[in-house]
Amino acid sequence: MRKIAIYGKGGIGKSTTTQNVVAGLVEMNRNVMVVGCDPKGDSTRLLLGGLAQKSVLDTLREEGEDILLEDVLRPGFLSSWCVESGGPEPGVGCAGRGIITSINLLEQLGAYEEDKNLDYVFYDVLGDVVCGGFAMPIREGKSDEIYIVVSGEMMAMYAANNICKGIVKFAEAGGVRLGGLICNSRNVDNEEAMIEALAAKLGTQLIHFVPRDNVVQRAEINRKTVIEYDASVGQADHYRQLAKKIEENTMFVIPNVLTVEELEELLITHGILN
Ligand code: ADP
Ligand code: MG
Repeated sequence: MRKIAIYGKGGIGKSTTTQNVVAGLVEMNRNVMVVGCDPKGDSTRLLLGGLAQKSVLDTLREEGEDILLEDVLRPGFLSSWCVESGGPEPGVGCAGRGIITSINLLEQLGAYEEDKNLDYVFYDVLGDVVCGGFAMPIREGKSDEIYIVVSGEMMAMYAANNICKGIVKFAEAGGVRLGGLICNSRNVDNEEAMIEALAAKLGTQLIHFVPRDNVVQRAEINRKTVIEYDASVGQADHYRQLAKKIEENTMFVIPNVLTVEELEELLITHGILN
């Protein structure tokens, strides 16, 4: 079982990309569990067809400790399985807490055991902070591989570099590695070349360039991944290609973190000023 965590700046497209890649993997008959690690609880709605998924924290709050695995793990599109960690009420408590609670509970309830025959677990993790609970998926061997969703926008690249700092910190003790950058395009000038250059500097790869396409929104309104919504469109093929590249990936590194000056230099030489 491969344990993969997806990180990246808020709004960059982590949940969309994760679910679409998972759709690509289940199309290839893989068994995949997605664990939403964002208090927003929107990591699995496209795989579940919009069904409101009761989060682990809400279930614990309402039903106490006596929980069955099927109370929190719902079957999604084809052979996908979905969990939402949830979060505290806004303004109360640490948002990262839900992730720690969920992963512990899933372990206790046997979600990762061999009889579940999972090929992959994906953690879709909020934001660009790799602190506290949000670091949980990469601490203590909870995941082996990280992919960072990024675009050619400066703040997205800045966040990617920060996430790399977090990976370096946990890589030495825990063995987690960076598997690559996923560029989720924002149609920035020279975007692909710039993210290629960023990947090279970080010592990793641009594993796939996902174009920006409104079919993603159309699928989203219909509560579906692009693959389920319209399997014949080009965007669906991009997600299939990314799924295949992840499946075949052999490049796992401890990244080299860039200084802010190096990041700015990269934007100047490859970016919009060109
Ligand atoms: P995150 O999980 O990183 O916060 P989301 O996956 O929720 O971000 O994406 C934010 C919005 O961007 C979504 O509403 C989605 O429709 C849109 N989006 C993501 N990827 C693409 C894409 N490749 N093309 C067009 N829209 C996209
Ligand atoms: Mg999200």
